[in-house]
Amino acid sequence: MKISVVIPAYNEEENLPEIARQVKLNLTGRYEREVIFVDDGSSDGTAQVLHQLCAADPELHYVSLSRNFGHQSALRAGLAYATGDCVISLDADLQHPPALLPELLAQWVAGYDIVYTRRRDDTREPWLKRRTSRAFYETMNTLSSVNFEPGTADYRLLDRRVVDVIQASPDIDLFLRGFIHWVGFRQKRIDYTPEPRFRGKTKYTVRKMLKLALSGITSFSVRPLHLATLAGAVVSGLAFLYAFYALFILVFTDRAVPGWASVLLSVLFIGGIQLLVLGIIGEYLGKLFVQAKGRPPYLVQATDAALGTPDRNPGHRWAAEVPTEPTSEK
Ligand code: UDP
Ligand code: MG
Repeated sequence: MKISVVIPAYNEEENLPEIARQVKLNLTGRYEREVIFVDDGSSDGTAQVLHQLCAADPELHYVSLSRNFGHQSALRAGLAYATGDCVISLDADLQHPPALLPELLAQWVAGYDIVYTRRRDDTREPWLKRRTSRAFYETMNTLSSVNFEPGTADYRLLDRRVVDVIQASPDIDLFLRGFIHWVGFRQKRIDYTPEPRFRGKTKYTVRKMLKLALSGITSFSVRPLHLATLAGAVVSGLAFLYAFYALFILVFTDRAVPGWASVLLSVLFIGGIQLLVLGIIGEYLGKLFVQAKGRPPYLVQATDAALGTPDRNPGHRWAAEVPTEPTSEK
């Protein structure tokens, strides 16, 4: 039995030695282990630190992406290289406590294919972050057919067959948190209390969070399109009724000069709805456009020498020859 651990890292140089130490500390026993760090186009010393760590320890490996592709794509890159019978993913900043690893494994051994974690509400997190995170899950659940649980991030264990399903998925913009719920299999949840970030600050900017939210909604639901249709129907229904009213005024009264306010309001209202609906359609169309181009979700720039080439790696079809030394060493 082999266990793989995948850790995406974007400018996490200060956290890497500590997370590597703690992960190894908590994964003891009769299993073979590998820890794969994915350097998501970091601009700090992450690549150098990884190079040193991996040179000193044959159980540690790294994959460097050609630029910053985002957390979800970095995770996928890590999954592509992982060769374990199960793969555990966690953040590099130690907010996902490695002390939980034995419990994840125990549930896997007990027969679960997906062991995911849910963080208890952490009052140390900024209020805004907690609030927006909760609002995100509420919106997701209203707008999609998959049930998303608040507080379930990317700290989870996946059995090999689930990893293979993810690898086989042609989605370029794969929203893993939704996909994991969608695939089914035997799932088990573990609750945990998150730790504060070890070093550095969050790499999830508001822009990245919005992008993730939008990707989540448009990946798992066409309900916004139905809502658009519904809004269109309601507005035209109202306009139809208003036409009757206008006709009534015109024919039966001498108040035939209605105020500009009602005209202006209805024009603005209908204009607004139209823009919104066009925007929603545009989001889905844009998704189709990106998917139609068939670009991989990430490109690999370098890996450490000991890491094999995965058979099914979307990033490899494009970059046929991946050098196994970081470019900074050339
Ligand atoms: N991350 C990444 N690429 C990005 C942003 C983040 O690989 O573009 C990684 C980051 O290094 C960390 C994990 O994703 O290991 C979660 O990010 P972070 O801790 O900054 O998010 P937060 O916990 O604040 O939501
Ligand atoms: Mg974090």
